[in-house]
Amino acid sequence: MTSTLFRTELYNIKTIVVKTGSRILTAQGKEQRVKQLAEDLSFLHKKGLRVILVSSGAIAHGMDVLKVKKRPETIPLQQACASVGQIKLMDIYQSFFSTHDVNIGQVLLTWDDLRSKKRYLNLRNTLFQLLDCRIIPIVNENDSVGTEEIQFGNNDVLAAQISLLSHADVFVNLTDVGGLYDKNPQKHKDARHIPVISHLCSSVHKMASENISNISVGGMTTKLKAAEMLTRAGIPSLIGDGFSSSLLSVLKENNCSTLFLPSEKKMTSKHRWLAFTGQSHGKVTVDDGACKAIKEKGKSLLAAGILDFSGNFRIGDMVDITCLDKQVIARGMVNFPSTQIDSIKGCKTSEIKRKLGSVQFPEVIHRDNMVVL
Ligand code: GLU
Repeated sequence: MTSTLFRTELYNIKTIVVKTGSRILTAQGKEQRVKQLAEDLSFLHKKGLRVILVSSGAIAHGMDVLKVKKRPETIPLQQACASVGQIKLMDIYQSFFSTHDVNIGQVLLTWDDLRSKKRYLNLRNTLFQLLDCRIIPIVNENDSVGTEEIQFGNNDVLAAQISLLSHADVFVNLTDVGGLYDKNPQKHKDARHIPVISHLCSSVHKMASENISNISVGGMTTKLKAAEMLTRAGIPSLIGDGFSSSLLSVLKENNCSTLFLPSEKKMTSKHRWLAFTGQSHGKVTVDDGACKAIKEKGKSLLAAGILDFSGNFRIGDMVDITCLDKQVIARGMVNFPSTQIDSIKGCKTSEIKRKLGSVQFPEVIHRDNMVVL
């Protein structure tokens, strides 16, 4: 897909996920930017698109109210700011969207809500129902309950997860720069803008500079992480300037955004969850033969190819499959608990039967329940 072709296709899409960062909503000129954002989102919504907004800004608005100058270092103070600021944030959106007669709904999430298959499906049902009711869901992290293990850490990753879950046709990450540059444009005047990336490889990651401000977390690194996840799943992504440009310009024009082209193959819902969302409960290390069979021929994992394992997992849990060089090559749901892997690793099926008394599954991980990364 070429960039020009893609951009002309943008108006024919069905679902769009847009993420906005805290600076866009809090720095000087914020009223005009939020007004413009609500206008553009309402325009797309009225054209019949299904629109989801992932919005940061709860902590930043709370900092304002609580008169906290620097982003708090302690989690409880961040949580208190988020609790106060989320109300303010939604109040602002409500007032701007109501001028366009568009209804909005609030959805607050933690990682736990996505890692649990049941809650993940519940969330998907709620989002789809809101969209069917012609409401724009506004999603944020549930910062006031999030602790380290259940936190996303930043909304780039959260927005990518929402894009995967909602089968978005495009993800737009609005920030305070016009996409990717070969150097940090805030420090280097000769930095060159990159309008399209067709393959997000390690040299692209190197270009990103970590830029943590007093207000928001993350930086270009996490934006690229989100874009990589999505393009691998088959969803095109844009990182664009929501600060001095508008959402519609970011969608239409080359000069205020970077477009990341998707891989040709679209992952299924199950593969997306396995690859990017589900929690790994352990890992199995496989020999070179198994590694090749999984990676190149799409084969299932048999006990004969397993050299070692770690972690405590039960039947149906997800585990990482790694090669001898420690690289994770695939993830999948196991047919045997970790307590049995120790005795069957390296064994042929006939030996497994002898050792365990019976064999319910010939594969440790069936290829249908596995995603190759
Ligand atoms: N959830 C946080 C907030 O709304 C934002 C995290 C981020 O900056 O991405 O304030």
